[in-house]
Amino acid sequence: MIKTIVVKQNILSHNDELANQIRQQLDAHSILALNFMASPGGGKTSVINTLIHLLKRKKRIAVIEGDVVTIDVNILKKHKIPVILANTHGACHLDSLMVLKALNKLTLSDLDVLFIENVGNLVCPANFPLGNHSNIVIASVPEGDDKPKKYPNMFRHADIVLLNKIDVLPSETFSMHRFQSALLKINPRATLIPISCKTREGFDSVVQLLFK
Ligand code: MG
Ligand code: ZN
Repeated sequence: MIKTIVVKQNILSHNDELANQIRQQLDAHSILALNFMASPGGGKTSVINTLIHLLKRKKRIAVIEGDVVTIDVNILKKHKIPVILANTHGACHLDSLMVLKALNKLTLSDLDVLFIENVGNLVCPANFPLGNHSNIVIASVPEGDDKPKKYPNMFRHADIVLLNKIDVLPSETFSMHRFQSALLKINPRATLIPISCKTREGFDSVVQLLFK
């Protein structure tokens, strides 16, 4: 008789197993979790700050901040919402264990939305799923229109791309067409929304897309 050995096809890495646990906890409480990734200075905290402003009357929000210092935590705490520092101790990305530990400090039954601010880095954060529902990659006009070309892996993992700081347009060095076509080549399914945290341009579309 032939003995059949069932091999589990998808042997998940430890990180991905924990990401699945996170997703189960989030879904059990109907919490929408968004992972914000960008280079340092791209505007992760400013985007999250603006979204909290726009949403806090309607949604119960918490933030997990992947950082080593509390500067951004203190900015967001002014909204009187739970903001948990996931101290990466110098690591260049958040992983599921860090997020799970931070999640344990939150009362999930009191939340509708969880913003996760990843470490400022356009390389490895994309390779560590965190159990979140959408990846939001922020690029900004001053960084140049070649960002998708330079960091294809990050932009490939994006569900939504926010092009921030459009208040500095027109710019002699930034071409919206070059940016758009580079992104389209790498990730045609990503939704691109140009925004400005200064003027709040584009945020209606972001809120519409994510929360309606
Ligand atoms: Mg920040
Ligand atoms: Zn890393």
